[in-house]
Amino acid sequence: MNLDQNPPQNPQRDLQNDLQHGHPAVFLDRDGVLNIEAGYIYKLENLNLIPGVAQAVRRLNDRGLFCCLVSNQSGPARGYYPRSHVDNLHERLCRLLHEEAGAWLDAIYYCPDLSPPEGGTVAEFSRWTTWRKPNTGMLVAAAWEHHLDIRRSFMVGDKATDVDLAHNAGCKGILVQTGYGDRVLAGAYQHQTQPDYVAENLAAAVEWICAA
Ligand SMILES: [Mg+2]
Repeated sequence: MNLDQNPPQNPQRDLQNDLQHGHPAVFLDRDGVLNIEAGYIYKLENLNLIPGVAQAVRRLNDRGLFCCLVSNQSGPARGYYPRSHVDNLHERLCRLLHEEAGAWLDAIYYCPDLSPPEGGTVAEFSRWTTWRKPNTGMLVAAAWEHHLDIRRSFMVGDKATDVDLAHNAGCKGILVQTGYGDRVLAGAYQHQTQPDYVAENLAAAVEWICAA
């Protein structure tokens, strides 16, 4: 190796790195990050985007970052609504992202399961699973299925458990102040957490990701 030489300026370097190690991704929590926190959403029309979110996702799309939803959705396990309703909510979410900014999610993962001690009552979904955040199952599945490099990836969420997930999996954890984020920071919800970055909202999180 000739140490006097600068590293080769190869425009394919990132691509080669991606091919070898996987693509960087941005894992996105749903409620309080993409859509306005509204508790369990029984009516489709009650799922509405936080202002600026569609444009922020589009910025990630344009940058070639894999956008992956990872969401705990225990409504089916609690008997609040069928799994098909969660799928319909996600159809609406994708439609709103597209209509507002031509943005898209590259993949959607959600966990409909909940253990009986946590409140799971519907037999089909009442179980403990590695998919429920802050366990890493959804990220591991996404990385496996889409060839993602978790170490070069980001998780954006509004709960301490989202930051826990990021650190359990080995990616950067960003806490947004929308949704429950402000209450987490004030020590009034869940537990203390040490995010790699605190962002006012998803747009500010994306700004930080794009500068990283
Ligand atoms: Mg959330």
